[in-house]
Amino acid sequence: MPNALITGIRGQDGAYLAKLLLDKGYTVWGAIRSHTAATEVSGEIGRAEREAMSASSLHALGIADDVRLVSVDYLQIDSLARVLDITAPHEVYNLAAQSSVARSFEAPTETGEVTGLGVARLLHAVREVNPQIRFYQASSSEMFGRSRETPQNENTPFYPRSPYGAAKVYAHCMTVNYREAFGLYACSGILFNHESPLRPEKFVTRKICGSVARIKMGLQKELVLGNIEVERDWGFAGDYVQAMHLMLGQDQAQDYIIATGENHSLREFTQRAFACVGLDYHDWVRVDPGLYRPSEVNAVVGDASRAHDQLGWRPRVSFEELVDFLVDVELKRARGEERLVEYFP
Ligand code: NDP
Ligand code: GDP
Repeated sequence: MPNALITGIRGQDGAYLAKLLLDKGYTVWGAIRSHTAATEVSGEIGRAEREAMSASSLHALGIADDVRLVSVDYLQIDSLARVLDITAPHEVYNLAAQSSVARSFEAPTETGEVTGLGVARLLHAVREVNPQIRFYQASSSEMFGRSRETPQNENTPFYPRSPYGAAKVYAHCMTVNYREAFGLYACSGILFNHESPLRPEKFVTRKICGSVARIKMGLQKELVLGNIEVERDWGFAGDYVQAMHLMLGQDQAQDYIIATGENHSLREFTQRAFACVGLDYHDWVRVDPGLYRPSEVNAVVGDASRAHDQLGWRPRVSFEELVDFLVDVELKRARGEERLVEYFP
């Protein structure tokens, strides 16, 4: 059975992807960021340490005991190469990143180091250790930024609007370059926003749905948001990790847009989330221009025709089902009822 290595396994996508691959019979390794000195990293993590490190996302999907974990320093090529030696993967899914757009404005160099250069280091290590490894890079619709073309497809020019978007463009270009220059099976999935109950509250969908549930329970008095006129193409993370896996199983590596093809405003998302619990958002939401970003991606929507035609991939969860599901889970959480998160809405 194949081995897969997932960097950023404790994040939202890492947990959903790990579950998918375990169900397919893979041995799943997860790389976890090390905070110890570089000389001490890059070993398999033992049982006691796992208990402390293993994240709630892996517990939430009930797979914390089923994955093997290894520590890594994304700033050191040697550390990455050692992780590849230990885990001997057939497939590498590179999901680790400083993934918050908002934070990237405050931490541009850390974002560049990890989200951008980290990918160059990993590609280099793959080439050195085993160029037969199939490599997936987590690219993002944030690369399109202020796009002049709607909807965006694989050939749409990039115009990033944040340090995060700029770092992802670099990482994307390096992935394409390693495919073309060295013949690696390296592909980029250009994923549009995808959500789940495993999203942290620093992302807006979880912030809204968590607040809706707490307001309904009388535990919170208002929800303060930034720009709610922005439009996004929102899908469900469980659908999107399937596309990642399909991309690594083709005859030839290519890049793919993964999106629903529908966009909705944040105002619409907010309105529906409050309506799920019988409330009118006008009564509870305050917009604070202090939360606006220095430069914004006003609207993006993806054309996933290539993924439809070549991967046979289609999203299964609609916008309405997604919002309803997220609110439902948050209500259970607010009541202290939620243990394992259901995989699908
Ligand atoms: P998460 O933020 O949930 O997880 C990212 C993981 O990256 C974390 O588990 C963490 O690993 C690691 N990480 C975070 N910050 C750093 C850092 N400064 N240095 C090193 N590692 C770090 O992201 P998602 O699961 O939502 O996304 C997965 C990937 O897909 C990311 O690369 C993201 O940028 C990209 N993406 C996501 C989209 C989305 O809508 N969710 C859309 C398009 C792309 P650890 O646990 O080891 O600390
Ligand atoms: P992003 O698309 O990857 O930046 O995902 P986010 O969930 O962080 O943000 C989505 C959109 O919601 C962005 O255009 C934000 O400007 C907007 N937004 C409005 N209010 C908030 C807020 O309070 N938190 C966050 N994270 N985003 C907000």
